[in-house]
Amino acid sequence: MATTDDSIADMTEQCLSCDGQTPHSVSVEILTESTKEENSEYSREPYRVSECIECGEQTTTRMNNA
Ligand SMILES: [Zn+2]
Repeated sequence: MATTDDSIADMTEQCLSCDGQTPHSVSVEILTESTKEENSEYSREPYRVSECIECGEQTTTRMNNA
C-alpha cells in the first residue's frame, strides 16, 4: 500500500529475506479474531506489522503474548 513517506520514521530491523538490518515501515493494526462458528466469542488483538522497505517482506507480530 502506498503511504506517505514522512508520516512514520523508519525503523531499522532485522530482515530475514535481506539477511541484514534494513529500514522498515512499522504500523499497528487491530485485527479481529473470530471463530467460524456463530458462537461468537471474538477478540480484537493488536498486531505489530513491520514491512521491509528493501524487499517488501511483511512481519506480523502479535503484541499480546497470550
Ligand atoms: Zn527485506
